[in-house]
Amino acid sequence: MDFAFTEEQKMFQTMVRDFCASEIEPYAAEWDETDKFPHETYRRMADAGLCGVHFPEKYGGSGDEVTFTIASEEISRASAGLGVAYLVSLGLGMYPVVMHGSEQHKSHYIPRVIDGSIVAFGLTEAMAGSDVAALETKYGRQGDYYVLNGTKIFISNAAEADFVTTFATRDKSLGYRGISAFVVDKGAKGFSVGKMEKKMGLHPASVAELIFDDCKIPVANMLGEEGRGFKIALEGIDASRVSIASQALGIAQAAYDAAVAYAKERKQFGAELARLQAIQWMIADMATEIDAARLLTYRAAWLAKTEGRAPPKEAAMAKLFASEAAHRVCHKAVQVFGGYGYTRDFPVERYYRDQRITEIYEGTSEMQRWTIARQVLGTK
Ligand SMILES: Cc1cc2nc3c(=O)[nH]c(=O)nc-3n(C[C@H](O)[C@H](O)[C@H](O)COP(=O)(O)OP(=O)(O)OC[C@H]3O[C@@H](n4cnc5c(N)ncnc54)[C@H](O)[C@@H]3O)c2cc1C
Repeated sequence: MDFAFTEEQKMFQTMVRDFCASEIEPYAAEWDETDKFPHETYRRMADAGLCGVHFPEKYGGSGDEVTFTIASEEISRASAGLGVAYLVSLGLGMYPVVMHGSEQHKSHYIPRVIDGSIVAFGLTEAMAGSDVAALETKYGRQGDYYVLNGTKIFISNAAEADFVTTFATRDKSLGYRGISAFVVDKGAKGFSVGKMEKKMGLHPASVAELIFDDCKIPVANMLGEEGRGFKIALEGIDASRVSIASQALGIAQAAYDAAVAYAKERKQFGAELARLQAIQWMIADMATEIDAARLLTYRAAWLAKTEGRAPPKEAAMAKLFASEAAHRVCHKAVQVFGGYGYTRDFPVERYYRDQRITEIYEGTSEMQRWTIARQVLGTK
């Protein structure tokens, strides 16, 4: 058994870390404060080769799911808001294209993402959250076009996306069998961005409605076979759980680093906080939880690399544990900082806010537990 990164992976991690230390981390608090998406920085990420790290070489990509996980962890450690834009663009938004798209879809869309295009994944609706199959956005065929009607809510990257992968039903009475997957380009007639959400965290990345109002797209924009959209959506979500685990891990690592540094510096009762056993125990718990989350996350990434896709149980375990561990780690980090941790003068309150969504999106913790239990018990 080998738990270590290869030399190549270590070099890649160092390169991403250096990039994040100079280009992302110094600006993360400002982006959080102003809710601004850093387009220029995202362009520099693409120029540095970070946007191709798990796509097939045939389409200009390099690396694999492990390198993607390394990049996603490091970027999220520096700015989880930029991290979500990155991992949805390369992961969740693109899995339907990579896993089910035609040759034409892949050769058209993958190079665009490698070049810095931003992608959104439009699945959730007002009445279809955890219960994905309840979606109501409709599609129908008109000659060489499909016409989409409906509204998606809570869509990450909605305002910035150059194109979106999305899902609609031909006939709601068909249940999950009526759902198909599509790719819709920004600027398509009848496609617009609606209400922007004011969120607790991840401020640089937009979350908004996607509105399809008689939106006409060529029939060639259907991804995979007609009626397979539910499966395509779930497979994409399964795969992308590993990247959410890595995002949670990155946030937890940032909170832990900040807490360790502060504990060594801040003095009370004539000595550093680090000398107090109460603080030492918190630091020990944080270190242990991060290690356990890292092992589960990279095991899932390694399985995705070696088996071609992340097994649902291992991906769900990684996402469940890493996100809840990040919750506990960020909670303790604020505690180590005391009152200062509650202010915006220090980054731990941002980590605390940014972390929370990792327990909710791409399947809540309850849905992860359900997935794991179904695999373990063999129930439906
Ligand atoms: C910031 C943000 C970004 C997002 N980005 C995207 C995106 O890019 N694309 C996209 O499509 N969606 C996105 N979402 C939507 C997100 O995936 C959903 O919010 C999430 O899946 C939960 O759905 P819901 O909010 O409708 O909650 P609900 O499904 O209403 O759940 C509410 C509560 O009930 C529990 N619950 C529901 N069903 C069960 C069950 N069967 N068993 C046990 N407990 C259950 C849930 O765990 C939760 O605690 C985003 C949401 C947010 C807030």
